Amino acid sequence: MANDTLRAVRGMNDILPGEIALWQHFEAVVRDWLAGYGYQEMRTPILEHTGLFKRAIGEVTDIVEKEMYTFVDELNGESLTLRPEGTASGVRAVIEHNMLFDGGKRLWYQGPMFRHERPQKGRYRQFHQVGVEALGFAGPDMDIEHLLMTARLWRRLGLAGHVRLEINTLGGAESRARHRQKLIDYFDAQQGQLDEDARRRLHSNPLRILDTKNPAMQALVEAAPRLIDELDEAALAHFQAVKDGLDAAGIAYTVNPRLVRGLDYYNYTVFEWVTDRLGAQGTVCAGGRYDGLIAQMGGKPAPACGYAMGIERLLALMAETGQNPPVAPPDAYVVNVGEQAARFAMRAAETLRDGGLRAVLHCGGGSFKSQMKKADASGARYAVIIGDDEALSGEAGVKPLRGAGEQQRVKLADLAGIISKE
Ligand code: ATP
Ligand code: MG
Repeated sequence: MANDTLRAVRGMNDILPGEIALWQHFEAVVRDWLAGYGYQEMRTPILEHTGLFKRAIGEVTDIVEKEMYTFVDELNGESLTLRPEGTASGVRAVIEHNMLFDGGKRLWYQGPMFRHERPQKGRYRQFHQVGVEALGFAGPDMDIEHLLMTARLWRRLGLAGHVRLEINTLGGAESRARHRQKLIDYFDAQQGQLDEDARRRLHSNPLRILDTKNPAMQALVEAAPRLIDELDEAALAHFQAVKDGLDAAGIAYTVNPRLVRGLDYYNYTVFEWVTDRLGAQGTVCAGGRYDGLIAQMGGKPAPACGYAMGIERLLALMAETGQNPPVAPPDAYVVNVGEQAARFAMRAAETLRDGGLRAVLHCGGGSFKSQMKKADASGARYAVIIGDDEALSGEAGVKPLRGAGEQQRVKLADLAGIISKE
């Protein structure tokens, strides 16, 4: 197309009616699943002050350094950012509304997130997440709840055999500081082998070097000092309790000592659910503990943990593994030929909806034959057939489109009853 402004922005997708059944199925399962664990939905604005994300996510992270859609509101000169993730906004709202005054909260959100990344399969500039946060809970029981609940969601979505769990612990502040210094010393001694990103991060955020996707650096990263060797007793005990909880629930996992996550706010438990079925974009759900974040953002100190899943990746995995969403075709398609018939058909369709049924009224005329084709293609269980003759007698023809049964003629008052009998 000549004019690019008439196309969607690169990396931002329309979700068309042909794909929506899968989205709606996913969303319905998710709502029901979250209700089953007592989580409450929260909705925050898509735009926030840029400073919020810088402070929460960390200045030296991929997201803040290069992925944020940030712009100046020309009306007042404020710097605003389209949210790249949900935790920062959620925590902001929790502090702003003093939501933890009477104890811990289990919250969830969903919606579009924005990151200026290179678009590819499973990586978009507008994508959607469902996020879950439990604020005010310190113990490993909440980490376990989160892992158990995600495992249940995969079962409910038919994905159980297609994802695996990786966990790690980042420990507390002191062990992280010790590990950080060891990493700096280690990488500093290997300057020649570092790529540009790693050199830049060496002193600002050396932990993130471990998260590199550069194959040329893998060997170096594999041999780097391990955080697990620096952990104190409390961190190890917390991690052990999480692992025991998983074992008791029969959830398989691997401990991946190199799992560090790309956001600065994590401590203690971190985890990712990954699949091998989606190529390089294989992480479908990720999260962990962020006990310091609420205080760091000016709230009364409170522990917290949470996770977010990428809806596009999960839906791609469902499609890839042959999970078909349930279809909900109309109950009836109302065919009408003739002027009187058209008016009566409108009434008949409304009567069906009064009876709680889904009815599609044929609009735009056309022959009986072509309308019957449309009725069939709609997937409806019944065609309701109305000509001027039927209209005059206040009746409609009812023809089953799926399975056996003769066409019959019924009074308008009996129409919904006949069709709902199935
Ligand atoms: P990645 O390593 O794939 O870049 P991330 O660590 O940046 O992921 P998080 O910030 O933890 O991702 O977001 C949680 C989940 O959201 C990811 O596991 C993924 O499923 C999804 N996600 C993140 N970025 C994108 C994107 N640009 N497009 C589609 N989904 C995404
Ligand atoms: Mg990323």
